[in-house]
Amino acid sequence: MTRVFNFSAGPAALPEPVLRQAAEEMLDWHGAGCGVMEMSHRGKEFTSIIEQAEADFRELLAIPSNYRVLFLQGGATQQFAQIPMNLLNGGSADYLVTGSWSKKAYGEAQHVAGALGGAARLAGSAEADGFTRLLRADELDLDANASYLHLCTNETIHGVELGEADQLPASAVPLVADMSSHILSRPIDVSRFGLIYAGAQKNIGPSGLVIVIVRDDLLGRAAAATPAVMDYKVMAEHGSMLNTPPTYAIYIAGLVFQWLKAQGGVAAMEAANVAKASLLYDFLDASEFYENRVARDSRSRMNIPFLLRDEALNDAFLAGAKAAALTQLKGHKSVGGMRASIYNAMPLAGVQALVDYMRDFAARNG
Ligand code: PMP
Repeated sequence: MTRVFNFSAGPAALPEPVLRQAAEEMLDWHGAGCGVMEMSHRGKEFTSIIEQAEADFRELLAIPSNYRVLFLQGGATQQFAQIPMNLLNGGSADYLVTGSWSKKAYGEAQHVAGALGGAARLAGSAEADGFTRLLRADELDLDANASYLHLCTNETIHGVELGEADQLPASAVPLVADMSSHILSRPIDVSRFGLIYAGAQKNIGPSGLVIVIVRDDLLGRAAAATPAVMDYKVMAEHGSMLNTPPTYAIYIAGLVFQWLKAQGGVAAMEAANVAKASLLYDFLDASEFYENRVARDSRSRMNIPFLLRDEALNDAFLAGAKAAALTQLKGHKSVGGMRASIYNAMPLAGVQALVDYMRDFAARNG
């Protein structure tokens, strides 16, 4: 068996020890006589799995006790609609647009707000600059009475990350953050946010699962038309089990959380992620052959888009990478070029192998 270095933006590579443990437990979980996929979500075995997963996730992110953790379905995209349904409360919400994902979230919120009799308002956009940087404080037009302020703290396609607390907009309204593509990659101060959500398929586990961290006081504001399964308060009251939850995805997420704890938690992950990202950015910045166009203070540690200055070489670059067991490097079609997604599960050796390949390719084609 050969496992490649998989640079996919998501679904992305998972830690190999997690996959091995899941394989070992596939037919018989801890003597239950059946696998996790086959057990009742209400039985004591699965109850212990979801409770442990939540406890480990809370510990990893130091989530305060006045926040609920919900294991939901429908991916981060469903949250684009669910957030205004639950939090708009007849008012207007502000949206910052810093890349494709926050733009999609804004579009969906406009649609939902229109139907619910509220509004979604553009409070700042970096689109004119091709989404190559974060917004500056003086570019924001914030509504002090907004129901919430939505932002995406890591734009997976454009490779723009808002990682430092002092980069957060100064606002007294609840901050709602899409952290799908960098959650658990660095410590965060959860208390700065009203709601955090993250699709699982990058740093957590299988796609379909989305984790929502929501402050208690934001529960119970859902519009009357909100279906029960999309109402955060109802889901919180039922321990994310109003209906059958995505049990296997939650189990894998739990294994990933245990793996993260064994690595030293998110602080240790951050140090590893800084080392990996610096290796690639330093190489790109020193190169005449490749380039990354994102402003330095806005660069993502997780998703690193780059261009070959001679785009005619793109296909040869990708074919050579694949032959060297470096896969999924093609950039998103809206940006072009290449993108290396280097989430928690990507080892430094994988980034080193990529840089070695890139150096060699440039020497042969420069
Ligand atoms: N937000 C971000 C930042 C993403 O990267 C993605 C998926 N790549 C989504 C939202 C949408 O997630 P999903 O496909 O799980 O709905």
